[in-house]
Amino acid sequence: MSFVFPPPAPPAVAIVGRTERFPVHRIYCVGRNYAAHAREMGKDPEREAPFFFTKPADAVAPSGAQLPFPSRTSDLHHEIELVVAIGTGGANIGISQALSHVYGYAVGLDLTRRDLQAEAKDKGRPWDTAKGFDRSAPIGAITPASEVQLAGSKIWLKVNGAVRQQGQLADMIWSVPEIIAELSTLFELAPGDLIYTGTPPGVAAIQSNDRLEGGVDGLEPLIVTLI
Ligand code: MN
Repeated sequence: MSFVFPPPAPPAVAIVGRTERFPVHRIYCVGRNYAAHAREMGKDPEREAPFFFTKPADAVAPSGAQLPFPSRTSDLHHEIELVVAIGTGGANIGISQALSHVYGYAVGLDLTRRDLQAEAKDKGRPWDTAKGFDRSAPIGAITPASEVQLAGSKIWLKVNGAVRQQGQLADMIWSVPEIIAELSTLFELAPGDLIYTGTPPGVAAIQSNDRLEGGVDGLEPLIVTLI
């Protein structure tokens, strides 16, 4: 096949213990999947189920990256999240089969221009400019699912060494199998899809020169610096 200009290299994520990389197909995100975060955003988790939005595949940025402070925001927020990397696709996946579609897990950040998101909510507009900007989806190396046991894991984020976000994966409203089952009724999942599974409470603004270190017990940490 020939192209009018060279196609860009596929976005890709490092894999723990392997030289091969995980090629990113699409990025899905779950909104308000921890009750305490839904409440801090002024929502009642008893009345509204979690939901999905997306980011471009090339929004990924690796651990160790120095991220330019994004344009058009004065309220950039961190959201630390468990990321599920899909290895086997499918539509209408059952909850009991869902984990067999997972290649592995990683720590990710759903960076958010909170001021643009607030304006979008206010005007009933899409979230793309708030959520899907360049380098808005930093992600650490993926650990293959067979090599990690996440039951009981904590999730946390430190900014300049101080703990900002803390939670338990067990506090997710939709579990990983439930997320995969639900998402696969809306989209046929494909190998290379990433799912950011929502953030625990404690989201707040970050500034240039801040160093963010996020973790989930059992996974490689994610470290990025804003410049
Ligand atoms: Mn999020």
